[in-house]
Formats: sequence, C-alpha cells, structure tokens
Amino acid sequence: MAALDGRTVIARSLKQQGIEQIFGVVGFPVYELAEMAQREGIEFYGFRNEQAASYAAGVAGYLTGRPGVCLTVSGPGMVHGIAGLSNAWANCWPMLLLGGAPDSYQREQGAFQEAPQLEAARPFVKLSTRPDSVARIPAYLEKAVRTALYGRPGAVYVDLPNDLLTGEIDESAVKWAARCPPPPRSCALPQDVTAALETLRGAQRPLVIVGKGAAYARAETEVQHFIEATQLPFLASPMGKGVVADDHALSVASARSRALQEADVIFLIGARLNWIMHFGMAPRFAPGVKIVQLDITPEEIGTNIPTEVALVGDAGAIMSQLNAALGTTPWKFSASSPWWRDLRASIADNEATVAGMLNDDSVPMGYYRVLREVRDAIPRDAIISSEGANTMDIGRSVLLNHSARHRLDAGTFGTMGVGIAFAIAAAAIYPRKKVVCVEGDSAFGFSGMEVETACRYKLPITFVVINNNGIGSGVSEMPEVVPPYAYTPNARYDQVIEAFGGKGYYVTNPDTLGPALREAMGSTVPSLVNVMINPRATRKPQKFAWLTR
Ligand code: ADP
Ligand code: MG
Repeated sequence: MAALDGRTVIARSLKQQGIEQIFGVVGFPVYELAEMAQREGIEFYGFRNEQAASYAAGVAGYLTGRPGVCLTVSGPGMVHGIAGLSNAWANCWPMLLLGGAPDSYQREQGAFQEAPQLEAARPFVKLSTRPDSVARIPAYLEKAVRTALYGRPGAVYVDLPNDLLTGEIDESAVKWAARCPPPPRSCALPQDVTAALETLRGAQRPLVIVGKGAAYARAETEVQHFIEATQLPFLASPMGKGVVADDHALSVASARSRALQEADVIFLIGARLNWIMHFGMAPRFAPGVKIVQLDITPEEIGTNIPTEVALVGDAGAIMSQLNAALGTTPWKFSASSPWWRDLRASIADNEATVAGMLNDDSVPMGYYRVLREVRDAIPRDAIISSEGANTMDIGRSVLLNHSARHRLDAGTFGTMGVGIAFAIAAAAIYPRKKVVCVEGDSAFGFSGMEVETACRYKLPITFVVINNNGIGSGVSEMPEVVPPYAYTPNARYDQVIEAFGGKGYYVTNPDTLGPALREAMGSTVPSLVNVMINPRATRKPQKFAWLTR
C-alpha cells in the first residue's frame, strides 16, 4: 500500500468528519496542508490575519452545526487564532483551531516560532490536544469534533507539529475513524414539562426570551409553534432575533425594558442571564421573578437567580415536548390581559419616539435614518452581520430579521472586529444568500484588510460603514492633539475596497443613500457604502445605561 503523510491523513479525516470549509492563513508548517484539504474537496479561505480567520471559523460552527475550522501557522499565528477561540468559548460555538507547531524534536530548544500553544489555548477550550502519531490522527480529530459538538458546544485546540504533518506511514497502518454523528438530543422529565407549563399558566405577566441557544439548536419551528399556541409575548436576545420573526405580532421588542422589568414569570429558551440580560436582577428585572429555564448545560441552571423549573436538554426536543403537552391541554394567554395592554402602550410610545428619527432629513445624518434606509434596501432573508457600539445597538432594533441564524454580531464577548469575518463565512457557506455587513468605522478598521479576502473569493457582500470618524463619537476636523477616540475625518473606506476590484460609494446625504444602497445590494462584486454621519450622533435616550453595574 502507498505511504501517506500526516497532512493527507488530517485532510481526509476532516473531510470524513463533515468539514466543508477551512478558514486560515498558510505558512510554515501548514502550507501544504491547506492544498491537500482543497484536493480532498474542502474549500480553503485564506485570510490576511488569523484573528479574522478564527472569527470566521467560530461563526461557521454556529451557522452549520458542525465545528468551524481555523488553520494557523505556529507561534504568532496560533496566538492570533486565540482571538477566535475565546470568541467561540464565550458564545458556546463549536470550533476547531488547528495550530501548526515546530518539529517535536526541537521542543524546548528555541525552535522557530516555538510557543506553549497547548497551554495558551487551554482556558478557552473543552480540549487542548496533540496527536501522538500519524496513525491515530483520525481518532484525535473525531474526538475533537465530538467534544466541540456534544453537550454545550465549544472550542477545541489541536496542535500539529511539523514532524507529525510530514511524517509518513503505510496507509494500512492508519486507524480511520467514523464520522461523528450529530449530538444526541435529550428531553426533559415529563413532570418538569408539566411544571413549566403550570408556572407559565399561573403568571400575570409572562414573558418568553428566545436566545441564540434556540437558534443554534435549530428549534425555530418548535419555538414559533409554542409562541403562537400560547400567545405569549416574546423578546429575542441579540442573536436570538429571527428564531421568531422580528415583525411577529407577539414580539414585544419595542417594549423591552418594560417587559423585562415587570414580567413575573420568564421562560428562557437558550439564553443566559449574563450581562446582556442584566443578570436577571433588579433594577432591570422584578425582584422575585420566576424563571423557567431551558438550557443544554446543567451548570447554567440557576445562574445569578434561582430557577423555578429547569428543563435541561436540547431546545428543539424540549419545545416539542411542551407543544405536545399543549396539544392535549391547550392554553392561551389572554390577549385582553392588563399585561398585554401595558406592553402595547409601551410599544406605541417607543415607536412614536423613534419614528421621527427614522425619517429625519438632516445633514449630517444620524444613525436611525441611515439604518432605516439599510432596512428598506436589504432583502427579507438577508444575513446581517453587525458590530460597532451604536451601529450595532441601534441596528438591533431598526434592522429586522425574519429567519433564525440570520443576525451575527459582537455577541456574548462583545468582540469588535468580527463583522467582516462573519460576513465572509456566511457568504462562503450560503453562496445564494445576500450577506450585508453593517458596522461602524472603528469596527471596520479591526479587520478592514479582509475586504481583499471578500474580493479575492468573489463574495458579493455589501459592507455598510456608518462613519462618525471615531470610536463612540468622532471629530469633524482633527485637532492638534489627536483625541484617543478619533480617526481620520471623512476617511474613504469606499476607496479601500476599490483597490481590490470591489465597488465603493461615498454618501453624505440622505437623498443619495437609498439609491447607493440599492445599487450596492445588486452589485455582482463586493461593495462598500461609506456613509458619513454626524460625529456626535447618538442613541435615543435610554431608561438604563447599557452596562448594568
Ligand atoms: P444569548 O446571547 O442569545 O442570550 P447565550 O449564548 O447567552 O445566548 O446562551 C445560549 C445558551 O444556549 C447557552 O447557555 C447554551 O448552553 C445553550 N444551548 C446551546 N445549545 C443548545 C441546545 N441545543 N439546546 C438548548 N440550549 C442550548
Ligand atoms: Mg465610529
């Protein structure tokens, strides 16, 4: 039989494990590995920095339900990849980081790019490992995939020394591993299902919160069915948006603060009571609020406040149990309840406040007008990648999602610099979908060079840069001493994409924004609309500060 080297065994094993794309940067010692992966039928997306490549891999895990894979060179490249590992860790996304490493026999000798890679990855991963031989690479990669997917999804690091990559063995000696099946789906105990429904039935002011765990579980059909059957008001977390459409009649997104603050029973479906949900505590939540909590992770139950009923398992499986129980004993929350009356009043108030800002014709423009134009220009089923503090926060309410896993943003870790990478991953995975990346100028800068990656792979993403010349707020003209938050005023990010064959638009006026956006959306090459806004533009006044302290 023929001799096989480690690289070939890795490439074949990844294909065998259902990996369709690898995101990374090649160099010593993984140069040929990427080509071998291509030969096995895996698409390779070469980035300009491992940071962006690793973000792309993490979100690929979220979008596909198989681990996203990032390939890096040794030392500094692997260290850049920790950016994506930590982002996957915080968001509970399945991901593999494959890090090249120097030859094992040079370890502790000061080898080229030698670093404590296994240790560096460890705090962010479920497993940090290094195959012991070429023969057993398939088993290590199968375990890596299984560890990333089963239980709470997360990241895995696999170290690949040069001698393992280049080492050869006879094909008959390779211990091939079967493809890891999708995770087993576990249900809740029937008495807990009954208790959950009884707790919701007993509520005066119930609320459902849909998180990205429900989106990851692909539970959209079951969650929609439950919400419609019970007629309960619901809110989505930032990336839970779209599991049930944002424009659904039962959405209370426009009454978010009130809904959180006054609810007496909350059903959390795959969402954590962390900083994004203000820890579930007063003053943002009612003291004594009862929580019905559905999560795949037992340790998550009771975080920050005690749980009334715990439903531990897969969101899709457990929502089916709840729907089945409702089928035998139907129950609906009354549309004429005082709670719905209060929520509707808050929704109407809030929508009236925002309406003026959405239609404001002033020059320079504010965020709301720009985002309203973006909302009107994008297709209904666009995947929206969004980041940048105000752009993302305001965009969360103005830009609508109608399908699950169609909103990608800075997420649990609040990571800036993910937007372009997420858009590239989404466009690679869904070639027939429109992908739109809406971000601030500072967020754009973290990985701005990756527009070359989008152009090189002919991914017709539309980037919208909402440009206020700085972080948070900017300057109209640069003062003598450069303020820490300021960037070059009126920077021509639109010209950056043109350097690589993309199409750029520079917009300062609301009249030309809509036409520019529509032309950009229809472009066959990647496009970037650079929209100048008032450097002092802000979010509408909020009842609470964004960060609960
Ligand atoms: P969000 O940011 O939308 O609130 P989080 O990332 O904080 O979402 O929480 C998502 C939760 O979903 C995590 O606690 C995770 O354990 C859980 N989760 C992941 N996969 C599943 C699944 N298949 N079924 C149920 N829960 C899941
Ligand atoms: Mg800015």
